[in-house]
Amino acid sequence: MTIETNLMAELTWVEYQASIQRENPFVLLPVGALEQHGPHLPMGTDHLVPLAISKAIADRIRAIVAPPFNYGYKSQPRMGGGNHFCGTTSLEGHTLSLLLRDVLLEFVRHGVKRIAVIDGHYENMMFLTEGIDLALTEARRDGITDVRVVRLEYWDFTSEETLKKVFPGGFPGYALEHAAVMETSMSLHLHPHLVRLDKIPNDPPADFPAFDVFPYNLTQIPPSGVLSQAKGASAEKGKLLFDEYVEKISAALQSEMERP
Ligand SMILES: [Zn+2]
Repeated sequence: MTIETNLMAELTWVEYQASIQRENPFVLLPVGALEQHGPHLPMGTDHLVPLAISKAIADRIRAIVAPPFNYGYKSQPRMGGGNHFCGTTSLEGHTLSLLLRDVLLEFVRHGVKRIAVIDGHYENMMFLTEGIDLALTEARRDGITDVRVVRLEYWDFTSEETLKKVFPGGFPGYALEHAAVMETSMSLHLHPHLVRLDKIPNDPPADFPAFDVFPYNLTQIPPSGVLSQAKGASAEKGKLLFDEYVEKISAALQSEMERP
């Protein structure tokens, strides 16, 4: 019997190996965090969203979705509210880099040639880049030079046109979009049963200086953990964003698959 799935954790090793050898698929690795997302969104939002995006991409292009990284690098005040909230559970930067290096090298050992790291947590960015670099350096030492790894943050695929529709009153910027309109809208589209609509706070947008200070100046951080207004969120906006990400990221990966 054949079971229709493109989730790596649901495949048998025999099916996985056959797919790698016959179809040369992308392996998609969603990476997020376990991080406070205000009183209204689940703490897994940063991996739940890229996991959903990855699954939808795998319905469009030849791809297998690896189990996501559910933990990420430490939350930072100006983009995630900071690492001091109860529940936020983070890795040190080098742990994340080495975790990614190890997993990428395993995919390489399996014969995977195209890998995409789909990041849903801003703070992860350069530690993921480091993990990719460590893995490719080690692979090259073993004589493997034909592996290509894409790293992307899904929000970079938002068009100006969509931003205007989602933020008719003006866009506050991606850093302040923590637990705000974009993530709340996509959560309403993807898993509405997990959104506590009545708990969306009424805080004004956070007003951070242009520098970080350690230890944190807690008076600058909204106590709710939400960095800008989430009240304008809707499932329709979530669908608009989600569909755009799936379409554009699929096209980008497809072109990387075909590029010699
Ligand atoms: Zn988030």
